[in-house]
Amino acid sequence: MPTVFEMIINGEIPSTKLYEDADIVAILDIAPKAKGHSLVISKKVYETVADCPTETLSKMMEIVKRLDARMREQLGADGTNVFINNSPASGQEVPHLHIHVVPRYKDDGLSFFPPSTKYSEGEMAEYGKKLAL
Ligand code: AMP
Repeated sequence: MPTVFEMIINGEIPSTKLYEDADIVAILDIAPKAKGHSLVISKKVYETVADCPTETLSKMMEIVKRLDARMREQLGADGTNVFINNSPASGQEVPHLHIHVVPRYKDDGLSFFPPSTKYSEGEMAEYGKKLAL
């Protein structure tokens, strides 16, 4: 079963394309968190960031940088949120790696993240040990 993004890449369903090369396509999100919300998509299907070669991620980030600049220049954005949802637990709906780029404006009231949580005594050090690379 092809992902919705494969169908877009194959021209089977329409999209508003912002960029395309041999490896990557960028489109407008159909249900934007803010007008101009864009998706940078790897043409080859990798489900999550863990599956994707670093070289491809690097190419995708180059397009993210260009979109960030374009949003500031053309939309007057004061900033952007750039994020990837990895696996359904994170909210990933389309199992085909894509980077969200959302234009942000001072005091736009958008909220993407839950409030901060707190570590109990000693817990931060435990997490630090577990995650140290
Ligand atoms: P995620 O939850 O990270 O998998 O995000 C999937 C995104 O794809 C959502 O923001 C959807 O609005 C978007 N989306 C789904 N179908 C389409 C489509 N046909 N064209 C453009 N964006 C889409």
